[in-house]
Amino acid sequence: MTSIDLGRVAGALTGYELGAELGRGGFGAVLAGRHRLIDRDVAVKVLLEPAGAHGGDDSDLRDRFLSEARVLAGLDHPHVVRIYDYVEQDGLCLLVMEQLTGGSLKTRGPGLRDPRAACAVGLAAAAALAAAHDRGVLHRDVKPDNLMFAGDGMPKVTDFGIAKILETTAATTTGLVGTPRYMAPEQITGSRLGPGTDLYSLGVVLYELLAGRTPFPAGLTVPALLHHHMSVPPLPLNEAPPPLAAVLLTALAKEPAWRPPTAHDFALSLASAATSVFGPGWLAASGVPVRLADDVLAAAGHTQGTTPRPAEIARQLGGDGSAGRPPYADTAPYAGTAPYAGAAPYAGTAGLAPTRVEDYADEAVGPSTGHRGPNGPSGPHGHRQSTGPGDRSRRAKIITASATAAAVLAVALGLGIWLTAGGSDPEGPAYAGSEAVEVSGLYRADGIGIGPDGSLYLADSGSSGQWQGQVLRLSPDGTLTHLAGVGPPATTPSPTAESTDAPTSSPSSSPSPTPSPTPVLGEGGPATRADLIAPVAVAVGPDDDVYVADSDDGRIRRVADGKITTAAGAGPGEGFSGTSGKAVGAKLSDPRALAVSDEGDLYIASGYRVRKVTSDGIIRVIAGTSDSGTTGDNGPAAEATLTSPSGLALADDGTLYVADSSAHTVRRISTDGKITLVAGTPGEYGYSGDGGAATSAKLYNPHGLAVGPEGELYIADTYNDVIRVVTTDGKINTFAGTDDANANTADGAIATETEFSYPSGLAIDASGAVYVSEPDRGTVRRIGPDKFVTTVLRKAAD
Ligand code: ADP
Ligand code: MG
Repeated sequence: MTSIDLGRVAGALTGYELGAELGRGGFGAVLAGRHRLIDRDVAVKVLLEPAGAHGGDDSDLRDRFLSEARVLAGLDHPHVVRIYDYVEQDGLCLLVMEQLTGGSLKTRGPGLRDPRAACAVGLAAAAALAAAHDRGVLHRDVKPDNLMFAGDGMPKVTDFGIAKILETTAATTTGLVGTPRYMAPEQITGSRLGPGTDLYSLGVVLYELLAGRTPFPAGLTVPALLHHHMSVPPLPLNEAPPPLAAVLLTALAKEPAWRPPTAHDFALSLASAATSVFGPGWLAASGVPVRLADDVLAAAGHTQGTTPRPAEIARQLGGDGSAGRPPYADTAPYAGTAPYAGAAPYAGTAGLAPTRVEDYADEAVGPSTGHRGPNGPSGPHGHRQSTGPGDRSRRAKIITASATAAAVLAVALGLGIWLTAGGSDPEGPAYAGSEAVEVSGLYRADGIGIGPDGSLYLADSGSSGQWQGQVLRLSPDGTLTHLAGVGPPATTPSPTAESTDAPTSSPSSSPSPTPSPTPVLGEGGPATRADLIAPVAVAVGPDDDVYVADSDDGRIRRVADGKITTAAGAGPGEGFSGTSGKAVGAKLSDPRALAVSDEGDLYIASGYRVRKVTSDGIIRVIAGTSDSGTTGDNGPAAEATLTSPSGLALADDGTLYVADSSAHTVRRISTDGKITLVAGTPGEYGYSGDGGAATSAKLYNPHGLAVGPEGELYIADTYNDVIRVVTTDGKINTFAGTDDANANTADGAIATETEFSYPSGLAIDASGAVYVSEPDRGTVRRIGPDKFVTTVLRKAAD
């Protein structure tokens, strides 16, 4: 790969300070930059190839580069990467863009398991495509690495490098253009393209996100893959709720005319389907910041005041916010032509060598140069661009940059903890028997915990940029206090502040479009003044200290006597990642779950690891390595791999249970450091196995855990919408929740006949009553020893 002459780039962009390389693609490198005067971070895309180096294609390359700049300049849309400048000088072509620090869907996709987040990203991408289509521009290369995220988690469509103006070209292609893995049938055959072409690609992207696999069998060669795109129906999308699957499959229709007519129509259908599945409020709960047209927001069941700002949306979308009549609407170039129908499966692609799809099926190929991909039509075995070790380091860089935004998404998952704390009142606290406490200053109900005195603690991770995180306490006498974090925006009434000199909301708590980049740590000060960015878990120590896992902040905070300090973590992306050292210097990526022992030892689940902080302030890794995986059962926990530890619970004998949500398992770490499987089938999800051995059962994204009085283990089987229980004989059963669509949503029924929604946090009190948080509903419910369900706390309807 040609190296960039940084000096020449700097000479052409004197107004900017240049930084590290952010990535590489078919054109060349993308560099970080910063405007010297206005402190704006930018990304500079550099066209690398010097004139003449590749035998005459260069003017075409430059034209495509310039055309990308022009397309972007014409698209001022919140979900399209912004362009600031375009410079041609000294044989260089430079495109100055908004810098996106949140990584791409390619690096983030595997971590983006919450189907609501996937749907929100789909709506954002569809909005961006609708805007492009309205201007007569097709993207033609929609794929996960071209869907990026800004630092605040906003999805952005990038890389319009092979975009084409529909009208001037009639948008037929002269060769294979696109990326095989995401390519629409009409792209493969070189037929007329239309908005449906981009929708097909987006459909594949979303299918992969929801299913965790491709729509076609794994391991196909490129020709076989293309044949599947053209002639073989996608595999059933059983992993997704049927209404969502149905909408996605319309985008994957072989015949463009059978797909939704516009990206806007697709967004409307996707939004309604998601609302029918997740209920209103799902969009805000997804944790993905989006700016959508009013009618899409309405279809998403979105109520005003929770996520976007309608005035801003209207401004950004230029008035009515919905798609006008696109330029191609009158010509319907693709309707009914189906030129590929009956064509030989590999028409137009002869000469492709049968190579495994995994090798390069997700790399773009272009019409007239070999640069974009491995096998341009000009000949097989072109130069592979992205498989060498250099590429690997590039990916690593992107992953680092995306850590913060990934944590933003992680907020979408409610994460819970359990604490082995004994209450004092066997009858249960006063709040158990009375009406639910309505909380007007609550956004989400994430992790929960119960203190030694029977107080219930609740972490509200808030909403990125609009609602700071907070921790609330419900005392056994029913008094609600605001314990830590700034919490709701100033306009919303909030619970009483714990200490009188600490206002429940400070000026910094008013809604703002982006979260403040540097949190006010408030170290040593009043806990209610500290900015908790996204607290997702709480645990209470033996002396009533409350520990809070602030996922986005990479820290565990401790609240004692109304004051807040840091117990572990050096902050986002900061600190050492070795196996032991000072807890406050440790790098904790996305801490998601906590537990505290009776001795005051703190256990933390973050990244791929579980760590322990002892009273001397030293942190040690007790399970997991720097790799993700499901290996190591029956051996030392410190050598085993974990995928996404998201729930912790301690038994009286010191056994630690770990829910590995993405591995769909629960494992046990004994006091001698051995790890064993307790429940679930590693890497496979489902809802099965009740009545049998828990290790043969299937779970679906388990989160919160709790150990009951008899040593039984409760598991929030989050995506199955149930709570499972594993008894000491190793058998598993459903303890609460049901997949019966006609179940009770209201209180007062028996637990197995009551519907729960994404149960996440779990806690248990001295009487054996189990508490469950439902993050999106903003509720904490209680399953009494009599197995009847009541609601303890619920966010007020507003
Ligand atoms: P290509 O057309 O060659 O694929 P891209 O526009 O996709 O080029 O950019 C190549 C890589 O550079 C991307 O995969 C991404 O890692 C990085 N990149 C591109 N645009 C930006 C941006 N605006 N901010 C940060 N990184 C970017
Ligand atoms: Mg790209």
